[in-house]
Amino acid sequence: MADVIKIAYLYEDLMNTYGDSGDVKILRYLLNGRGYDVQVNNISLGHSFNAMDYDFVFFGGGQDYEQTVVAKDLPRLHDTLHDYIEAGNPLLAICGGYQFLGSEYKMSDGTTIKCLNLLPLHTVFRPESRMIGDTEYETEWGTVRAFENHSGCTYFDDKDKLKPLGKMVEGFGNDPESGYEGMRYKHTFGSYSHGPILRNRNIAEAFADMIVDRYKARVGAEVTA
Ligand code: GLN
Repeated sequence: MADVIKIAYLYEDLMNTYGDSGDVKILRYLLNGRGYDVQVNNISLGHSFNAMDYDFVFFGGGQDYEQTVVAKDLPRLHDTLHDYIEAGNPLLAICGGYQFLGSEYKMSDGTTIKCLNLLPLHTVFRPESRMIGDTEYETEWGTVRAFENHSGCTYFDDKDKLKPLGKMVEGFGNDPESGYEGMRYKHTFGSYSHGPILRNRNIAEAFADMIVDRYKARVGAEVTA
């Protein structure tokens, strides 16, 4: 029987700005090359979801309107995503998806939507600073080049627990002041990078490594159970 790696794409039909679905396509390509089949499930409004059934969870970006729709469905995903993240499994969240990992997002119209509250960060829309354009930053895997387009500024509420994904060379990243892009906690990552981010081979291969490790641990646990 072929080895099948399972990817959950959260709200694929609603959260996919500026080619974010390309991240999942690139991972499929890399994992196929390593001899694995890949199954991608769209987990959308009302769909049942147990994160522990998966080897990778992806959450793309979205505009404010789609975010208000998704926010209403999100609370039921909290517990299973909490267990998945704390167990050190790989997750990548882009832009609107990244914002959703935190406690809240104060939007362009002044209303605040409650987010998943999985990690100590929050986001505030700052109309005076639309952060749009090319980005370049240094990560532990080398240089990453991408594209950003957001007005939400993301702030860490616990700087010991969360680490930035990269240090800016060009562009804004989390906000206009900090000089940092994205977030890492265990194997959970947030980023404002579209483009998609995983067109950067260095970071894409790092995610493929994490996913294969998770797959081997999950399947190994099932065999011995
Ligand atoms: N709506 C959010 C913002 O402007 C996220 C945008 C996005 O996901 N591209 O900050």
